[in-house]
Amino acid sequence: MVYECLGCSKTHSIETLLYVCPDCNHVLMIRNEQDQEHQSISGDLWRRIFDYRKMLKIPSMKGIYRYHEFLGSIIPLESVVYLGEGHTPIVESNMRLQEKAGLRFFFKNDGQNPSASFKDRGMASAFSALKYFMDRNILSDVIAVCASTGDTSAAAALYAAYLQPGIKSAVLLPHKKVTPQQLSQPLGSGAKVFEIPGVFDDCMKVVEHLASHYTVALLNSKNAWRILGQESYSYEIAQDFDWNLENVVVVVPIGNAGNISAVMNGFMKFFQAGIIQTLPKIIGVQSEHADPVFKYYLEENEEKREFKPVDVKPSVAQAAMIGNPVSMPRVISLARQYNQMTGKRNVFVCQVSEQEIMDWQLEANRNGHIACTQGGESLAGLVKAYQTNLVGATETAVVDATAHAIKFSEFQNLYFDGQIPDAFRVDSKSEFVNQPSLVSPSDPMLVPTQEKRLEKERFTEFVHQVTNQIAQNLDLKQIDG
Ligand SMILES: *Cc1c(COP(=O)(O)O)cnc(C)c1O
Ligand SMILES: [Zn+2]
Repeated sequence: MVYECLGCSKTHSIETLLYVCPDCNHVLMIRNEQDQEHQSISGDLWRRIFDYRKMLKIPSMKGIYRYHEFLGSIIPLESVVYLGEGHTPIVESNMRLQEKAGLRFFFKNDGQNPSASFKDRGMASAFSALKYFMDRNILSDVIAVCASTGDTSAAAALYAAYLQPGIKSAVLLPHKKVTPQQLSQPLGSGAKVFEIPGVFDDCMKVVEHLASHYTVALLNSKNAWRILGQESYSYEIAQDFDWNLENVVVVVPIGNAGNISAVMNGFMKFFQAGIIQTLPKIIGVQSEHADPVFKYYLEENEEKREFKPVDVKPSVAQAAMIGNPVSMPRVISLARQYNQMTGKRNVFVCQVSEQEIMDWQLEANRNGHIACTQGGESLAGLVKAYQTNLVGATETAVVDATAHAIKFSEFQNLYFDGQIPDAFRVDSKSEFVNQPSLVSPSDPMLVPTQEKRLEKERFTEFVHQVTNQIAQNLDLKQIDG
């Protein structure tokens, strides 16, 4: 395995920590020079190997390393760190929601990863590599650092905590730009947490400066090991669709653009190895408050396209609120390859409003899902793609619910309280708003507290009154007799 530069195409040894090309400063991808050898195994044999592995009880092969040869093939299983990441469920939406959206779709619940977002896939890969380097005495006393919109730091801190004491972690977060749940995660894992004024893009600059001047391990998606691990998302979709991806559309939100890069690369690797016969359509989604990738692709003429970072506005899809995506060069290069390999344009980017993101998230969760705001963004993007004929009614979509809903419940609370600040440009629709009702007797003598218990008669009266109020509210029928 080698690092390969996307700028000058030079390769560099994998046995050092590299984040950018030492020659030209471009971002890197990890390439497996054994990829050619992979082709000596038939697609059919690979499929059978992976289906067989799905039945195994070896922990290190349960998660992303089920696809070992396509991820960190140099890493022996003893060095693999498995905290339960990967193998996340693909859940078909009910008919009601599919009718609203216009086509058949599934959510892939990446919020069911250990730190409750897809970031665990990349971290399992990056920390397995760190552990391998430590096991071989190439590295010791690692300080793992990252900047984060919340979920990267939660994941990095979790894996670092597991590998104590050889690895310690420090995370940089934009002050007040992560949810309380996301802040609590690295704190609970024992990481050093630094809050930095500004937005994520500012944090990222600090961490890059840190990584180029001090001996730290950078865990942002600039780290090519992260991208490698996130490719497992594509492999799982391929396997769960029984290796047939005809008419399948994969929808992901775009923030720093690491995930969409990984998803494209993963499908291309499986396609080249003959494991899948079709490259699914890829749709990236951005909020109109953080849409540099969408703007880039607005220009139809490839020659004339020019990347310009944008200044972000507040977004409920806060984990994707990034104006200058680190992986933009990866997206440009991989999308071009992906389209070429398909023989036609097969990667698209949609833009959605903040209102659409919130409403589709709430609608999804009203129908039995656990989508976060970015999952809402994905679904809103699918609906937009359907309405603008980018996808048709005969296609089937897999929509990425990138984190668990509870990580972003702050935005749901604000929406339900009608308190989302104006800058987000989101109005609360009464059809979605839900609030708890306090049910209590009006007579204070009939109200129990933890300190003051009621005597029997009053307590019976309390139970009656509260029961009656609930029965009235729910319009319940009394049991006869
Ligand atoms: C990181 C993240 C994103 C954005 O992914 P990128 O790889 O940065 O494009 C989207 N949703 C959630 C929940 C995330 O944590
Ligand atoms: Zn280079």
